[in-house]
Amino acid sequence: MLTEIVTDEQLIKLYTTPGYLVAVDYPKKEVTLHTVDCMLADPISSVGVKPSKARENKTGEFWFSESRDEAISKAEEIAKKKEYTYTVCPICNR
Ligand SMILES: [Zn+2]
Repeated sequence: MLTEIVTDEQLIKLYTTPGYLVAVDYPKKEVTLHTVDCMLADPISSVGVKPSKARENKTGEFWFSESRDEAISKAEEIAKKKEYTYTVCPICNR
């Protein structure tokens, strides 16, 4: 099941749940697939995504799924609709 992630806390709680994060970056026009334990998907990391801030500033959106296929479908759907680039994160790529 897909869940929209709107706060950093939501994502922090999911850290130990095996699953995938679809991170949409509006300014960069990019959709990136991460595993939820990737450092780039970690709001606590300085380099990680910040869902609360992205929502506040309307600079992005985030989706979580335990299913890789479902996460990829969502990422591809958003990429197609918005004409963004879809990439699988090179760091957590699995
Ligand atoms: Zn990643």
